[in-house]
Amino acid sequence: MFDSQVMMSRLKDFDITLQEEDADIVVVNSCTVTNGADSNVRTYINHMRNLNKEIYLTGCGAHTKGESLFEQEKVFGVFGQSEKERINSLLNEKKRFYELGDLDFIDENIVEEFAGKSRAFIKIQEGCNFRCSYCIIPFVRGDARSMDEEQILRQIEILAANGFGEFVLSGTNVGSYGHRQGHSIAGLMKRISLIRGVRRIRIGSLEPIQVTGEFMEILDEPWLEKHLHIALQHTSDDMLRLMNRRNRYASDLKLFEKLAEKGFALGTDFIVGHPGETDAVWDEAINNLRRLPLTHIHPFTYSKRDGTPSALMKPEINGAVSKIRMKTVVETVDENNLLFRQRSKIPLEVLIENEKAGLYHGLDQFFNRVIIKSHDDLTGNWVTLENYEVRKDHNYAEL
Ligand code: SF4
Repeated sequence: MFDSQVMMSRLKDFDITLQEEDADIVVVNSCTVTNGADSNVRTYINHMRNLNKEIYLTGCGAHTKGESLFEQEKVFGVFGQSEKERINSLLNEKKRFYELGDLDFIDENIVEEFAGKSRAFIKIQEGCNFRCSYCIIPFVRGDARSMDEEQILRQIEILAANGFGEFVLSGTNVGSYGHRQGHSIAGLMKRISLIRGVRRIRIGSLEPIQVTGEFMEILDEPWLEKHLHIALQHTSDDMLRLMNRRNRYASDLKLFEKLAEKGFALGTDFIVGHPGETDAVWDEAINNLRRLPLTHIHPFTYSKRDGTPSALMKPEINGAVSKIRMKTVVETVDENNLLFRQRSKIPLEVLIENEKAGLYHGLDQFFNRVIIKSHDDLTGNWVTLENYEVRKDHNYAEL
């Protein structure tokens, strides 16, 4: 999203449309997290070729599939992330090109506005030093490196002056921010909170070991979103070892309980069906998961990624079994989420994002969806709700 925004802001000689049918040129900013993602990109590119579009490929997929797509002449040009600022001149090139650029590249862009959004996404770092067995990201995004702190602050100052109040800190492994420079995510957030106009700060995702003593000290700050997304990926230690993860269940449970006591809504990533997730492992995992005070979940069904250690692991888990496990995980956390919202006594601070058919949609400080019926145009506003109805999938109010 950030990368797309940068590219859109650099296109001077072209008109931008988000509707492919209106376009002569299609720039595919691709993801490569799974083999599935790569094959979706291929299918999409073939489809666009049939519509006679001139196609360019960028994003992580440029690193994994760019070469073959370029050789097969399915795309006119391929460019890596570090080259995205040159998009205007690249798209003016008359000759086909393949320019992956530098994998250790770090952004120095200031994006001043995010069209149509009330929250601004700020990329603060890139890459990852972890080597989870199933993950291709470090190979396509490189090792962790951070954006310059002063640059980030300047970026947020401009956005805040342009009316943005909520900032989402994003990256590949956001919690590793600043480790090379001796900075930290907590330190950065404290500095961001001092900028005039900043009302709420959210972190895309943290690893459990990144919730340090220093981080614990900012938990009571009013500007910190009362929701943390902490990536566990699994709740069985056997699986965590196979996945080459750095977290373990007992300490994860302790951490989550401590955060829940402080009133936080808690989310996580969870992978079902990774090789080795036998019935016994699963039984342990689901029991453990039920003990966690989780309110949000971002579950994935394991998808093999060639070139990763997990791709060679056995036994593989049948897709139908994974599907059932996935359903159990989602239902468990959905129930928790409903209970959390029913028990919550605190007024909701909602940032309204958009309107659909007279209903305004936004997110509260717990990262829960709120729908408000109103005759006033609330888009982009902050609304405090004392009275609202807790519905199964969201909270609802009329103003
Ligand atoms: S921490 Fe995240 S990005 Fe890094 S290797 Fe693990 S899953 Fe991939």
